[in-house]
Amino acid sequence: MVQVGRIATCQLPFQLVVFVTGSASGIGYAQAELFLRQGHYVYGVDCQVGQMKLLEQQYGERFLYYLADVACYDEVERAVAHCITQFNKIDVVCNTAGILDDFKKLEDTSLALFDRMMRVNVYGMFNVARATLPYLLAQPASRLINMASIASLTAGGGGVSYTTSKHAVAGLTKQLAYDYSQTGLRVNAIAPGAIRTNMTQADFEQEAEVAQWVADQVPTKRWATPQEVAELTLFLASDASDYMQGTIIPMDGGWLIR
Ligand code: NAD
Repeated sequence: MVQVGRIATCQLPFQLVVFVTGSASGIGYAQAELFLRQGHYVYGVDCQVGQMKLLEQQYGERFLYYLADVACYDEVERAVAHCITQFNKIDVVCNTAGILDDFKKLEDTSLALFDRMMRVNVYGMFNVARATLPYLLAQPASRLINMASIASLTAGGGGVSYTTSKHAVAGLTKQLAYDYSQTGLRVNAIAPGAIRTNMTQADFEQEAEVAQWVADQVPTKRWATPQEVAELTLFLASDASDYMQGTIIPMDGGWLIR
């Protein structure tokens, strides 16, 4: 795998408060870690502790976390209220928590699975956007960064419920961007392709044949790291992205141009 430099390309001018969901693992963890490394404050929300303990140990009072299910509005509201009592404001929201459906086709998708996928991937993002909106609008410049997927733009990046849910994330992103364009809020989404995290770890098990097959499908012939997605997040959080509104940005090694 190609090694990508770890030096952040984007320096943000002052200390931000960044609210990150899914911060216990994978992309959310990498986003939280990069903002912390840059000197910002991060409020993590996840349904498990996972790697948030590491962030707590390493970054002390600049990192706080709350255990909550993003699918439950009341829990999200409590997390947001706690963040405000501790850090006073929210500048950036990374709506990152999400789950995969094991690429299940319709005949293998139970109503319970479809329901859970919608509750976490769609209601979860809605809940976080809804509960943080007053605080984002209270800032002269703020950012909502949703975690979409290539499954927001095409078929085959997941099963029927994942693809449906991620298309909804694209719609949520565009409509919120449209509705709040005349404020300082910028709403965009990142659409990753193959990122090596716990979500995709099964592909690397046994002989890692699936992982190799996936890499072969990608024009640039490799998986990406969650840190690469975090670097793009940092750019979207910066003033340099002010003219970007409602975009769904693929970060997929060329998957969508095949
Ligand atoms: P991950 O499994 O490593 O991390 C996801 C995190 O979300 C976990 O810590 C998990 O506990 C948390 N989470 C799940 N359900 C939750 C809930 N109901 N409430 C609170 N937290 C919850 O996966 P990842 O790869 O880092 O995925 C992060 C996001 O990126 C997801 O939205 C995923 O759909 C998206 N994505 C990932 C890939 C990839 O290849 N890994 C590609 C495209 C999009």
